[in-house]
Amino acid sequence: MKLDQPVSKIEYARSDRLLHIMWMLHNQCNQKCSYCHPANYEGSSQWLDYDGVVRFLDRIFKHYDPMGKEYLFSFTGGEPAIWPDFFKLCEYLYERGVHIALTTNATRRPEFFEKCAHMFDVVSISYHPEAERDDIVIRNITGMSGQCHMGVRVMMPPNLELWNRSVRFIEKLKASPGKHWYSLEPVRILEGFGTEAPFLAQYADWQEDYFNHHSAVFVNTLGHEPNTRLAKSLLRSSVVYTDGSKEELDATLYVNRDLARFRGWTCRIGLDQLFIDFKGDVWRAGCQVGGILGHIFDENLQLPTQPILCSKDFCHCNTDVMTPKWSPRSGTSTEKITEASINS
Ligand code: SF4
Ligand code: SF4
Repeated sequence: MKLDQPVSKIEYARSDRLLHIMWMLHNQCNQKCSYCHPANYEGSSQWLDYDGVVRFLDRIFKHYDPMGKEYLFSFTGGEPAIWPDFFKLCEYLYERGVHIALTTNATRRPEFFEKCAHMFDVVSISYHPEAERDDIVIRNITGMSGQCHMGVRVMMPPNLELWNRSVRFIEKLKASPGKHWYSLEPVRILEGFGTEAPFLAQYADWQEDYFNHHSAVFVNTLGHEPNTRLAKSLLRSSVVYTDGSKEELDATLYVNRDLARFRGWTCRIGLDQLFIDFKGDVWRAGCQVGGILGHIFDENLQLPTQPILCSKDFCHCNTDVMTPKWSPRSGTSTEKITEASINS
């Protein structure tokens, strides 16, 4: 990317028809990783009422269908797959042609994932060494890879025993027989994950060396792209520079280089993205700009019809960065932004 060149816009690579809904279904988890904040697994939220969820979805489709939207639901938690109605919800969305993405620790029994893998377009698997379920996680990865776009993120705690377990897992996974399609990445631990102020864990020099020599790799012994209903281009965004040239956005690089600063830009969160927290509160995006729109079970939930002005200094989540937005200097009309959305 031309990181020193001024940017006028970020846009989806394919179209603005995508509505990406990021949904923390609950905050219960079957693990208790030492580096994870209890808020992510303690289970203070109740299981959602399935019929209420369907009524909420109907309101979403009624509001966004007239905009010609294509939908991608990305489920996180806690561990989203342990919600007893998770399979039923996926079936409902799949039947409606909605794209489904899942972030999971993949420690549920392989029979579960075998039953629902065909419905997932994207699966992001986080490996946590303290779970001590390596064989099950590997079975789930190798069982689902090839059926969906898959990324495996291996948590690398600085603690020597856990570090070694993660390294052994990577080697064992790479050596697994069969035809596979996934990206594999060792990931630095974020201490206080799930709090307002997470920070990167401290590593020994030899561990820093490991990160420097082991970046993300792509494993493709399948020989072709997985057969999903989701075009990969739907997951990409482009940067448009002020001279009109354009290239693919690397959101991680953008965040890491401290370039994701869009205060005063007009942003399409709320139109192209929604975020639902584990309490069921609906936001335009995880950045929380614009405040809470309402609760999923509110009969009168008001969903946005206009973009919003960015009021944050730093846009830190990749999905937020990738959402279409334009700078005041871009020449793109902002006259449709309502006073309410400017002030909220
Ligand atoms: S890091 Fe993930 S798997 Fe571990 S306790 Fe937290 S939510 Fe569960
Ligand atoms: S912080 Fe929020 S409003 Fe600002 S650019 Fe990022 S996603 Fe848009």
